[in-house]
Amino acid sequence: MNIGLPEIKCVDLAGSSNLKEVTILGSTGSIGCNTLDLIERDKERYNILALTAYRNVEKLATQAIEFNAKMAVIADETLFGDLCTALQGTGIKAAAGESALTEAASMPADWVMSSIVGAAGLKPTLTAIRRGATVALANKECLVCAGEFMMDQVKEFGATILPIDSEHNAIFQIFDFDNPTTVEKISLTASGGPFLKTNIDEMELIKPEQAVKHPNWSMGAKISVDSATMMNKGLELIEAYYLFPVEKEQLEIIVHPESIIHSMVTYMDGSVLAQLGSPDMRIPISHGLAWPKRMETPAKKLDLTDVGKLHFFKPDEERFPALNITREVLQKGGSAPTILNASNEVAVYAFLEGKIGFLDIAKIVEETLNKIDFHNMTCLNDVHDVDENARRVSNESVTGKIK
Ligand code: NAD
Ligand code: MG
Repeated sequence: MNIGLPEIKCVDLAGSSNLKEVTILGSTGSIGCNTLDLIERDKERYNILALTAYRNVEKLATQAIEFNAKMAVIADETLFGDLCTALQGTGIKAAAGESALTEAASMPADWVMSSIVGAAGLKPTLTAIRRGATVALANKECLVCAGEFMMDQVKEFGATILPIDSEHNAIFQIFDFDNPTTVEKISLTASGGPFLKTNIDEMELIKPEQAVKHPNWSMGAKISVDSATMMNKGLELIEAYYLFPVEKEQLEIIVHPESIIHSMVTYMDGSVLAQLGSPDMRIPISHGLAWPKRMETPAKKLDLTDVGKLHFFKPDEERFPALNITREVLQKGGSAPTILNASNEVAVYAFLEGKIGFLDIAKIVEETLNKIDFHNMTCLNDVHDVDENARRVSNESVTGKIK
């Protein structure tokens, strides 16, 4: 099933009130900090309800105090005492653990940034969706592991999803939602990551510190590795399928190393619409934050005469097997994307910890998909069970590959 954005309720938040109440799930990460950077420039317009983080108590407490948040949540319960100490005397409520993340997402914020990395963001994001919130969605893993279920809930509870991933935000800006049948195809652009031209023998030897250095974007470690394997683009293919009313065959990936065109939509008459901009996540985040209006950002204004040339080519599916794997997973549907996501998370963190090689990431994902039978999922419990089992199987594969 494919539920498009036109069916999602749209509320003119920017026009209805001058003060916007905001919660940021994952405030200490790259997306979270960029969101706060924008808010800081116009603090009077925003009231921060909750900020959450995994383990970085110091950064979370600093943010909570600076933005006068009502609540700060640290996901790792063992750090609750440290957070209480850091927030002593401030009047900010400190909380910890999974239930506190849910509590943060339940607070009546007008706008929730979903920027926790990985499937860990699913539960709090669904909590916000179930109270009909406007959710700025940066976390793509939620949609990959539970897309059908999540979009059903968006519809059922009248929530609004604003795509923040730069490609999906670009498509959101240029897609004719009133006439979706006039769309011929969506082209997701991919920078190709830091190893676009690296030959396969050298790829074997890639170290984590090389893989996290993206040529155009500054991002968290997991998405940087995903960009390096191009799994990121595969995850985005699945993300686009759930967000936009198109068929799987209407989605394509084009390598565009400059990351200036963030995606394109081709219409039946031959017109191609694109969204362009400097590679700065504050542009798509601002689009979500001000939506349906626009706001100033500090992002460098694009000067195409400075850029000079833009390049485009087909992705190399031999050196980046993640692209074929994700395309097949999208075709299969059911539990396959959930397995893919869980397995990729296990493999990426094993690589970052130096346990396995760079090329092992895609191998582990493929092995895991081959070992587990796919089936249809009907509820969130199914998603959890499939996710848990895929992590167990992937961890076995990691053990078999430890260097
Ligand atoms: P990051 O690693 O910089 O930050 C992740 C945030 O999630 C941090 O606040 C961290 O404390 C929190 N977190 C991590 N594990 C957690 C857990 N188990 N429980 C609760 N909180 C946890 O990641 P990022 O680069 O900001 O990316 C966030 C999400 O946005 C990812 O899904 C990514 O794919 C997506 N995204 C990021 C970018 C980007 O430019 N960074 C662009 C597009 C999409
Ligand atoms: Mg992206």
